[in-house]
Amino acid sequence: MPRSHLLARVDAQTSWDVIVIGGGATGLGCGVDAASRGYATLLLEKADFSQGTSSRSTKLVHGGVRYLQQGNVALVMDALHERGILLGNAPHLVHNQAFVVPDYKWWERPFYGVGLKLYDMLAGKLGFGRSRILSRAKTLNMIPNLEPTDLRGGVIYHDGQFDDSRLAVTLARTMDDLGGLAVNHMAVTGLAKDGDGQIQGVEIKDSLTGTIRHLKAKVVINATGVFVDEIRRLDDAAATRLIAPSQGIHLVLDKSFSPGDTAIMVPHTDDGRVIFLVPWHDRVLVGTTDVPLDAPTPEPRPMDEEIDFLLEHAGRYLARDPKRADILSVFAGIRPLIRVEGEDKTSSLSRDHHLTISQGGLVTIAGGKWTTYRKMAEDTITQAARFAGLPPHACKTENLPLHGWISGLDPKNHLSVHGSDIGELRELIRQNPDLGAPLHHELPYLRAEVVWAVRREWAMTLSDVLRHRTRALVLDAAASMDIAPDVARLMAEELGHGEDWIDSEVTAFRELAQTYLAT
Ligand SMILES: Cc1cc2nc3c(=O)[nH]c(=O)nc-3n(C[C@H](O)[C@H](O)[C@H](O)COP(=O)(O)OP(=O)(O)OC[C@H]3O[C@@H](n4cnc5c(N)ncnc54)[C@H](O)[C@@H]3O)c2cc1C
Repeated sequence: MPRSHLLARVDAQTSWDVIVIGGGATGLGCGVDAASRGYATLLLEKADFSQGTSSRSTKLVHGGVRYLQQGNVALVMDALHERGILLGNAPHLVHNQAFVVPDYKWWERPFYGVGLKLYDMLAGKLGFGRSRILSRAKTLNMIPNLEPTDLRGGVIYHDGQFDDSRLAVTLARTMDDLGGLAVNHMAVTGLAKDGDGQIQGVEIKDSLTGTIRHLKAKVVINATGVFVDEIRRLDDAAATRLIAPSQGIHLVLDKSFSPGDTAIMVPHTDDGRVIFLVPWHDRVLVGTTDVPLDAPTPEPRPMDEEIDFLLEHAGRYLARDPKRADILSVFAGIRPLIRVEGEDKTSSLSRDHHLTISQGGLVTIAGGKWTTYRKMAEDTITQAARFAGLPPHACKTENLPLHGWISGLDPKNHLSVHGSDIGELRELIRQNPDLGAPLHHELPYLRAEVVWAVRREWAMTLSDVLRHRTRALVLDAAASMDIAPDVARLMAEELGHGEDWIDSEVTAFRELAQTYLAT
């Protein structure tokens, strides 16, 4: 899908039914929902799909054990229901993950055992497996590097795990399959209104060339995550703040820190939250933190105190403690939490979503979680279509297989995230065996995946490929810097760019990658 074709489609349409601003979980969910109802739908993403919060999650499709601790049963039930739906619609991207809550005090096993039984019950028919009490020996067998001193046993339960950026690109491809159009590197810079003050379109700026366009739409949806207030102020300069931004970081460690397939759930941190140590793409992901911010930034940086906090808590639960030098990559994300007057502790703010329609007709959807993106989109498109007077069509996404749907793939095969497209990737390698070579001995990715990302997955920059289409930057920041020139050259051949482009992309990427190093 060359960019010129995408732009030609943008220019050919005189008016859209629905324009969605933002290509994260929420916007892409809305794009898929609207396109599947048959509405002429355009999605515009300023940077790359999932570049905001949606590539920086803990990668869990979950009800949220912590929200159960907080007594938010309705949120947990909804999220568990969505967890089951997502597994059914994208089995190539979501898999069942076992978690153990290790217990060091006499009361912990009965306490967490009962709580997790309730978690199982709330999932009902869509459960991922029953929780049960484990002996000390069994717990150590499942998590060999667990701190053995004073360990009494554990409680095992099940949740879902996924690759957030791969799900995002899969949603973009699903939208495309349904006749919608998703364009990355395209920012919305203004809203156009008619004489009655009603929004009738958007001004957009191509982030790669600076070209400005004006587009018409029957309804505009603001799904820009932590930046929804910026778009709301384009509509109404006096709009009050909706978002309370809160930063969370993750550390990525070598798999030897938690060998085996079982994740650890630490049920109580010093600041009264939970943290996870989860096996992911043959590494261990440790997170997260919760630090209120004054304002969001597009490239949030991990704070030293957050890194120390996670190292310290991980060390309490692991026999071999991780040190700073063991961190392969560290990344930060910002939660788009809904502000509550008088509440300044973001960890107690609700993870529920919030939908508003302004006087001018701007539909804003914010909050929620990756896990609930489909339900958020269903609510948003139903309300938006009603408001805009679009012909009513029922939501179809509960039983809508996502692009590449196939069941039974081994999630340990890194190509499984491509689902049924694996056959085409293999064909690419058959035609050009050089593309079957790995990019780096510490990373699973093949040269073919770079070519595929450019040809089929809207990748336009080195960061698009190394951060989101592959997860090289997140899995090993230093290794991703090593392969940057090679990957840039492969992309340049596909995109028709010269040496200057390669040099500037490599420089920009290495600057970005430096911020993912902890030392
Ligand atoms: C640390 C952390 C851990 C988390 N872990 C989990 C988890 O394990 N499971 C789970 O379910 N949820 C998790 N979440 C929550 C989940 O990641 C978010 O709720 C979700 O990703 C938000 O998606 P979004 O689309 O609303 O926002 P975003 O992903 O931020 O998307 C908004 C997009 O809008 C774009 N944009 C902004 N301005 C413009 C403009 N003017 N024009 C065009 N585009 C624009 C941005 O570039 C961005 O890509 C976690 C969140 C954090 C921070």
